Amino acid sequence: MKSKVYQDLLTVMQMRRGPYAGLDIPEFFALVKELFTPEEAEVNNALSTQPATIEQIAHKLKCDPNRLSPLLEAMADKGLCATFTVVGQRFFKGLPFMPGIFEYQFIGGDESRRHRKLAQLIYAYKSACNASKGAEKITFPLTRVIPVDKTIDAGNQIHTYDQVATYVQKNDSIAVGTCYCRHAAKLRGEDTHDMPMEVCMWFGHAADYMVERIGGRKVTKSEALSLLDQAEKSGLIHMSRNTTENIEYLCNCDRWHCEVVTNVLKQPKPGWAFNSGYQPRFDSDRCIACGTCLDRCPPEALAMGEAPVPIVNLDRCFGCAVCASGCPEAAIVMEAKPEFPSPPNTVKELVAALKACRTHP
Ligand code: SF4
Ligand code: SF4
Ligand code: SF4
Repeated sequence: MKSKVYQDLLTVMQMRRGPYAGLDIPEFFALVKELFTPEEAEVNNALSTQPATIEQIAHKLKCDPNRLSPLLEAMADKGLCATFTVVGQRFFKGLPFMPGIFEYQFIGGDESRRHRKLAQLIYAYKSACNASKGAEKITFPLTRVIPVDKTIDAGNQIHTYDQVATYVQKNDSIAVGTCYCRHAAKLRGEDTHDMPMEVCMWFGHAADYMVERIGGRKVTKSEALSLLDQAEKSGLIHMSRNTTENIEYLCNCDRWHCEVVTNVLKQPKPGWAFNSGYQPRFDSDRCIACGTCLDRCPPEALAMGEAPVPIVNLDRCFGCAVCASGCPEAAIVMEAKPEFPSPPNTVKELVAALKACRTHP
């Protein structure tokens, strides 16, 4: 039976939008009853995506701010809302399912019975949402591949935003957490292909928040660089938001479970929806046709040519350089991909680029 508080929660989650905004299906109610107690659901329904003080929220709920405060703090610790402090004043705001509540359930790497159940319920809800709306068309890349920069041909100009190490070097606060895509898959009993788990990375304030609230772990710069190295060796793709400025997270993604990569792979030309702006060039004198690069390539963009040397399908290639970083003969270098647009500088420019693509498909 759908009680009123969960029915209201559906309306609230519809307004918060995102790829999995509330959908009136049994999978939604099964999930939210596990995520929120009725009391937490009521508090969630009083939160806006605009920050509010405890007093403002208590006024809306007609309750005592002193009783509400511990409940809100506990909800923030469970990843059910966000909180921050400005000049000594505490603020809270509601979160959408994604990005937000779903990821926050798994970043701490918890393997409890409840987390296993949540992994199943979230998967069932997301699958039902995807089936109802069909594959989402990517008109402008929201996310960007960051190539393994040491593989870029020396003749190319390498932008600082193309160098993963620059994000580590320029931030004093760095945190890592469990990859929620792979961890949720593991909790569902799926094969995670022995890929590293603790490789989601945050910088600055985002790093502090992940450590204080969501189960992230502070790391030194040298540990962060070593984790990135391990991710490259395993064939994971470095990825972040498609802007040159203010990157506060760095993902290290696989082809099987990553929410972003699996969505990109459903596009007719994945290599134009998600890319670094680079493409591989093969040195036929060095190549021994071992096939390692074909096996490592996440979007299966490579085939062995007659030479024999690999040939690349640029409509599929992400420019991630996972092929180059794993080549035993150093026979692959990355060079600029002509016609691929440079990333917008700011979030504002990214939003404008997205809007322009929607207006002129
Ligand atoms: S987006 Fe990538 S790194 Fe981030 S959680 Fe998903 S697979 Fe892991
Ligand atoms: S991994 Fe290197 S040597 Fe092996 S097939 Fe690819 S390019 Fe050639
Ligand atoms: S060929 Fe494959 S592994 Fe190499 S850059 Fe392109 S997508 Fe990455």
